Amino acid sequence: MMFCVKCGKEEITFDGLCIDCFLDGKQLASLPQYIDLERCASCEEFHVGHRWLIREITEAAKDAVENKLAVIPGMRVMSIGMLVTEQDEKNFLVNADVEGELLGNIVTALCETTVRIKNNVCQRCSRQLGNYYEATLQIRSGTKDLDQHIRDETVRYVRDRIESMGSVNRQIFLTKVEEVPGGVDMLLSSISLGKSLAKELADMYGAETKEAAKLIGKTNDGNDMYRLTYLVRMPEYHLGDVVMHNGMPYKLSGVSKGNGKLIGLNDFRETSIRSSDMHSLKVHTKKDDLKKATVVSISKGEIQILHPSNYSTIDVKVPSGAVIGETVDVADVDDVIFYVP
Ligand SMILES: [Zn+2]
Ligand SMILES: [Zn+2]
Repeated sequence: MMFCVKCGKEEITFDGLCIDCFLDGKQLASLPQYIDLERCASCEEFHVGHRWLIREITEAAKDAVENKLAVIPGMRVMSIGMLVTEQDEKNFLVNADVEGELLGNIVTALCETTVRIKNNVCQRCSRQLGNYYEATLQIRSGTKDLDQHIRDETVRYVRDRIESMGSVNRQIFLTKVEEVPGGVDMLLSSISLGKSLAKELADMYGAETKEAAKLIGKTNDGNDMYRLTYLVRMPEYHLGDVVMHNGMPYKLSGVSKGNGKLIGLNDFRETSIRSSDMHSLKVHTKKDDLKKATVVSISKGEIQILHPSNYSTIDVKVPSGAVIGETVDVADVDDVIFYVP
């Protein structure tokens, strides 16, 4: 049996001492006097570890303290209790109560530090503020000007997608939206983002895409650096339009991966059309240009409406089970009025 050389207690010893004498006067855990915590002056996210994160200021301060806590070799930290006291908006006093395990004993230590908030700009914000972009998404129409409704819908879709992707990947952001003659350009932070959005839009609208690369310089490690342009050429037809197919009127009711779904206006039967045949569709009436007709009465399989131009009462066929309101959308195809479901 060994004895503590200092107090003489009969105990398993370390360096000739019992555990109490060994720990006596030792600083088990320590923190620097000041810890600087960077906050992005633009997005207000905090730089914790190697990442920029959205955090409550006190939580960010705790994370910064945890990263800087040093304990003596052999000690395993089990928990850290922290009390954060705001001294002013840039200085936070943090008292840490550390509990750990050392040589089979539970030990505790108290230490304190001041977390100082330093303004900086994160990489994403500095890139965004500097109009950094790697890819351009060009939305154009196949014929004339891009339909304003489609333009707004596309911009909204791209914004929503980037917002949800950007919340998990900081490299993703929208740099700029520019209206240009014939359409709209969206400048994007990454090439892969441009590629995937161009594909998504092509699938949704049955659009054609083309890509072009432009060498813009060299990266720091000497590789060629490119900027990519993704042209998304919207077809003339859009969801909800009345189109002519094999001489008959249809409503375009769906587009998926470039393939279309049509509903016949004379029999309300559904037809699929392959992407390779989509170009044969002729737009008869744009969705926004469909006429409204007032419903006079409803009977099985038919309704009576006021003709949108001469206000005579006419019968039009409706699909079985259709819910008919006070007005309905109709299309005038060669002087025949069709109900548009
Ligand atoms: Zn002792
Ligand atoms: Zn930022």
